[in-house]
Amino acid sequence: MLGPVILAASRSDRMRRLISAAPVTKQVVDRFIPGETVADIVPIIEDLTARGLELTMDVVGEDITTPEQAGAARDAYLALIDHLERLELGEKVEMSVKLSMFGQALEGGHELALANVRPVVEAAAAIGTTVTLDAEDHTTLDSMFAIHEELRKDFPQTGCVIQAYLFRTEADARRLAESGSRVRLVKGAYKEPAEVAYQQKHEIDKAYVRILRTLMEGEGYPMIGSHDPRLISIAQELAHKAGRKLDEYEFQMLYGIRGEEHLRLAAEGHRMRVYTAYGTDWYGYFMRRLAEKPANLRFFLRSMVSK
Ligand code: FAD
Repeated sequence: MLGPVILAASRSDRMRRLISAAPVTKQVVDRFIPGETVADIVPIIEDLTARGLELTMDVVGEDITTPEQAGAARDAYLALIDHLERLELGEKVEMSVKLSMFGQALEGGHELALANVRPVVEAAAAIGTTVTLDAEDHTTLDSMFAIHEELRKDFPQTGCVIQAYLFRTEADARRLAESGSRVRLVKGAYKEPAEVAYQQKHEIDKAYVRILRTLMEGEGYPMIGSHDPRLISIAQELAHKAGRKLDEYEFQMLYGIRGEEHLRLAAEGHRMRVYTAYGTDWYGYFMRRLAEKPANLRFFLRSMVSK
């Protein structure tokens, strides 16, 4: 019940101002967003990779309002890639980007987002790694998939995300399950209406399994973005049935959630990639993490009153 309320708050400017200014927040936010600058995040990258994990980096931010902010987002990713080049970690550290941060919602936003994301994809390719386009709310997806297709003409390894809660996703998965594609499947983190998305957890989980089967039986590279223990073991079974080797799919989880499971899967020989967000504009990302688990909200509220 709380999830949709928190998701609605994640889009409210008033709540953004209130929560961002609360003195508390840092300790709780740090659990999910462990730094604000590249300098904060480099030791985390070094630590996680030393433990056998891989990463996908998200410079937090979305729903920007000016082309200058979109350009700044592009530059933040380019600065990160510059640092990554020195670490020489290649595809062990890739990038996740939200096209809304690259200007997708502005006037002429489709072209603007493409123009801003392309140099990031080029710079990533130049250091031997890749970019994955995150999936945002359903109104943005036709544009995201068109940008994905355009980028793949020059950079076929560019990945994208599909969301199991959307009715459209089974068809998207069939289209994307082709040779060379990299597709992350997640349940979906936005507040979506009943006309376009399943609302019940059991329906979303069933759709997730159907879509995962399509990806595993297809020719592409599935990236299983979930912390759900049941789905993780189903993914292992489906991979086995489809005759996939351990390096022909990967698991992905968010930094700060089920960390011991990251290490367990890596120790079993799986590719395990940790989605690691950093930056100052953390509000939307943070609120979606609260919405996914009401216990997070209780912890957050308790720390507010105990200060
Ligand atoms: P759930 O059933 O929600 O969770 C399973 C278990 O995991 C829970 O019981 C709990 O133990 C733990 N858990 C899950 N979430 C939390 C949390 N926030 N705090 C503490 N414990 C938690 N969504 C998008 O819409 N677009 C994207 O581009 C996108 N990218 C993602 C990338 C990755 C790598 C991952 C892992 C998720 C991404 N998501 C994205 C979020 C996703 O849609 C879900 O909202 C999120 O993963 C929770 O779903 P779940 O599969 O973990 O299952």
